[in-house]
Amino acid sequence: MSSYTYVDHAYDVVVVGAGGAGLRATLGMAEQGLRTACVTKVFPTRSHTVAAQGGIAASLRNMGPDSWQWHMYDTIKGSDWLGDNDAIEYMVREAPKAVYELEHYGVPFSRTEEGKIYQRPFGGHMQNYGAGPPVQRTCAAADRTGHAILHTLYGQSVKHNAEFFIEYFATDLLMTEDGRCVGVTAWRLDDGTIHRFRAKLVVLATGGYGRAYFSATSAHTCTGDGGGMVARAGLPLQDMEFVQFHPTGIYGAGCLITEGARGEGGYLVNSEGERFMERYAPSAKDLASRDVVSRCMTIEIREGRGVGPKKDHIFLHLDHLPPDVLHERLPGISESAKIFAGVDLTKEPIPVLPTVHYNMGGVPTNYWGEALNPTAENPDAVVPGLMAVGEAGCASVHGGNRLGSNSLIDLVVFGRAASIRAKEVVDAAAPVPSLPQASAEQAMERFDRMRHAKGHAPTAELRLKMQKAMQEDAAVFRLEESLQSGCRRISEIWKEKADIGVTDRSLIWNSDLMESLEFENLMANAITTVYGAEARKESRGAHAREDYTERDDANWRKHTVSRLSEDGQVDLSYRPVHADPLSDEIDLAKIAPKPRVY
Ligand SMILES: Cc1cc2nc3c(=O)[nH]c(=O)nc-3n(C[C@H](O)[C@H](O)[C@H](O)COP(=O)(O)OP(=O)(O)OC[C@H]3O[C@@H](n4cnc5c(N)ncnc54)[C@H](O)[C@@H]3O)c2cc1C
Repeated sequence: MSSYTYVDHAYDVVVVGAGGAGLRATLGMAEQGLRTACVTKVFPTRSHTVAAQGGIAASLRNMGPDSWQWHMYDTIKGSDWLGDNDAIEYMVREAPKAVYELEHYGVPFSRTEEGKIYQRPFGGHMQNYGAGPPVQRTCAAADRTGHAILHTLYGQSVKHNAEFFIEYFATDLLMTEDGRCVGVTAWRLDDGTIHRFRAKLVVLATGGYGRAYFSATSAHTCTGDGGGMVARAGLPLQDMEFVQFHPTGIYGAGCLITEGARGEGGYLVNSEGERFMERYAPSAKDLASRDVVSRCMTIEIREGRGVGPKKDHIFLHLDHLPPDVLHERLPGISESAKIFAGVDLTKEPIPVLPTVHYNMGGVPTNYWGEALNPTAENPDAVVPGLMAVGEAGCASVHGGNRLGSNSLIDLVVFGRAASIRAKEVVDAAAPVPSLPQASAEQAMERFDRMRHAKGHAPTAELRLKMQKAMQEDAAVFRLEESLQSGCRRISEIWKEKADIGVTDRSLIWNSDLMESLEFENLMANAITTVYGAEARKESRGAHAREDYTERDDANWRKHTVSRLSEDGQVDLSYRPVHADPLSDEIDLAKIAPKPRVY
């Protein structure tokens, strides 16, 4: 192995990722007086959270009646009864506090006439335990909510003396022989040095893996690196088959038009000019849950009612709304529509198509963010020293399908929860664990192997093959044949990975090497997604099978736990859903499983 320059660090806590989840965790840890490092591959305010548009859900009641119980019901129903009810209760009860905390930190929320935080309707959020009408629950800073939150949290973290390691690419977890996580290795992108962060606690906040697909609303940096690291450490991923398609990605470009557009009164039409959502979801209409709207759009297109020369997309109308509402509430998407679709949304509809948007699956955790390694005896066994928060984790509050504006609230509630728990499990006076030699060497062998890979297949080629296979075979609707073909294709690409070729051997700003490491992480996420989907013989949330069209609670109300071996074998097992809420303040009869109609 070539010789590398090593730099060693010791901290109480290392947070990997500086999106909303990573920054809220970092800030919380630093506030507790824990020595905290935050390692991030991009500058903090460039994390994908910056792109979040529509808003953050909390039952503040600023614009009408609401309650945490209604929010809890909507989230459970949205999850299609796969979410863990203890975690969901924790999130919705903490949500108002978390939003006011953001306000006090300095997030510039949009305001009502009386100066309260403005709240808009969002898909699947209803009054009266789903009976309707839509509730105004989603707090927004125009259509740049993520931007506002991320910038504020970064400023606060710096103020509390958290230390940032910016443009450091974390490669692998440092694990002891007995399964404790004691740090992470990272490659400093601008000078090529290798950094070994030892810590009492590692928090993964690395975001989603939308880029496993060909068309996604997420940034090119969303490559599931946390999931890759966890899988390589022999730890499991959970519910990976649940991939959310957002109904309104811009046709062709894939970038997002927020659900807030429909929240403000936008609606979808087919080639006959029909507002077809009224037919499928008479009550919620265009504000039905995302998985539902995406399926309806797909059906309309399949049945020949798509718009455009190829009849392969749908129109989103906002042109009936007053220009000042568009200007005040949706300035960002007015710009996106102009740049990416070439339309003036005050005059014309926007061409849209369901596009991969969010990963419900991830590293299994409890509602304190502690990573789990389920065993037959204990399905909730905790991995010492490891946490996961944000889109990288699976608490699981979103179950089979996430409601819009429930991710931003998940980031801040569980980022904070992780730091509260850290205060209890991290002994600030204890010495930092020493370097686990075997694990450190293994991490560097992999890095070195990739750096010097002399095969024939360029990373970009393999990545495109993976993205096409995922897009075609693990889509909005799924069938046995397509899923089996997906498993076959992804497994073949796994084999071809041995023949990967990296051309740049340098260590400084080597994007070829970085993308190859990211591709390896994407593959760990992609392969567990297709195998999990093939195995799940029912339809639930975003997992819609045409051959098993019904939800099957008797056999399938359980989390998929997937473990990946080095040679690409996926081992599936299952763990029970936490059906019990935390308190007795919610009526159990109200949250019991029932058919999910909007
Ligand atoms: C276009 C768009 C709009 C959205 N709008 C909304 C919305 O309005 N409301 C809502 O609730 N949700 C929304 N979502 C979803 C939500 O924004 C995301 O789920 C959420 O922001 C993810 O945050 P995160 O902190 O988990 O990860 P991210 O914000 O993706 O951050 C990941 C971090 O991890 C770091 N990282 C990753 N890998 C490594 C590595 N190997 N080494 C070092 N660092 C690493 C990155 O540098 C980055 O800092 C939207 C998503 C998209 C894509």
